Amino acid sequence: MKLPVYLDYNATTPVDPLVIEAMLPYFNEKFGNPSSKSHWYGLEAAAAVEKSREIIASFINVSPKEIFFTSGATESINTVHNGIFELYGSENTHIITSEIEHSAVINSLKRIESNGSEVTYLKVNKYGEISIDELEKSISGKTKLVSLMSANNEIGTLNDLEAIGNICKGHGVLFHTDAAQAFGKIDIDINKLNIDFLSFSGHKLYAPKGIGVLYKKRGINIPPLLLGGGQESGFRSGTLNVPYIVGLGKAVQLIAENFQSETEKLIILRNKLFDILANNLTDISLNGKLANRLPNNLNICFKYIKSSSLISELKTIAMSSGSACSTDKPEPNRVLKAIGLSDQDTFSSIRFGIGRYTTEEEIVYTGGKLIETVNNLRKNSPAYLLSKAQTKENYNEVR
Ligand SMILES: *Cc1c(COP(=O)(O)O)cnc(C)c1O
Repeated sequence: MKLPVYLDYNATTPVDPLVIEAMLPYFNEKFGNPSSKSHWYGLEAAAAVEKSREIIASFINVSPKEIFFTSGATESINTVHNGIFELYGSENTHIITSEIEHSAVINSLKRIESNGSEVTYLKVNKYGEISIDELEKSISGKTKLVSLMSANNEIGTLNDLEAIGNICKGHGVLFHTDAAQAFGKIDIDINKLNIDFLSFSGHKLYAPKGIGVLYKKRGINIPPLLLGGGQESGFRSGTLNVPYIVGLGKAVQLIAENFQSETEKLIILRNKLFDILANNLTDISLNGKLANRLPNNLNICFKYIKSSSLISELKTIAMSSGSACSTDKPEPNRVLKAIGLSDQDTFSSIRFGIGRYTTEEEIVYTGGKLIETVNNLRKNSPAYLLSKAQTKENYNEVR
């Protein structure tokens, strides 16, 4: 077993060796610019790009013409939001999202809001679920877009995409879903779900960082974010990152081939870790619920101790106290606050992300280490001792 055990797959994944192998020739041997249609080098690169596009399109059952390569989910998300804003103008744009979206969605919409458009941030219940009723009530004549994530990156909660898509379709509102966590982990049938825009990143699914996709439904025209050489049918200018696009295609092919067995394995390991902790520790709680959750995510509140202490005590486990984009800030986690945790409990919560290379041995090791470390830390936690002892007489017993 290699230490530290990596349990932060919701932040990023290593690149699959088969993906690396597929990419390598495109750095030197097959280095052509896919826009150079006048010679072999360019044609060979263009063919590789189109092959990747086809793999991705067929995995989600859409046309390759609806797949656009970007630098990642963040760019894809900004492209959708800015495109809608530019198309309809600040006065006539209202966008609906939720409080627990990724910062890429929240901050992209904050800019649009500060430029004069209206944005509604739907509240969520204690599991991180929006109310479909409230979504429908929030739609006004000005509403142009609903932007809601497929799965939350902190607590793994899945949105009811079908219900959201139906509401959007019924009201003639476009539907964007940030699928950075969900893509390849849950089944997403774009057509059945009435999804108009879908975005994801390669590095959450064993392809490199800095490559991603925007699916845009045929017939929906929004202005591009990047202007330049007119690549990607003019919708996303800039020379295509051929090696990474090839890698992303390979990564999606691997997912397509192993979808069932891989998600089953993730669920088994995730539930095993949860059972070990739940059966051996008191005063822990699951953020979100076990059902309606990403197969590879757990988020647990270890009451009375600081997650930062747990992380620094347990250096042999790579886990996180929240999304990689927000851990530098000492503020309570925005998503955990939104589902109703006290400030204290947000600082006691840890996210575990399980992935392709996680083994049962690692899960058992992690469970054991967590139990030991949590118990030790609690012995020095005044809040814990106070809550257990209740009386002076009991105090020594608890210690
Ligand atoms: C990772 C992530 C993003 C951003 O992806 P980048 O690769 O950083 O652009 C957006 N949304 C969710 C839900 C994510 O998990």
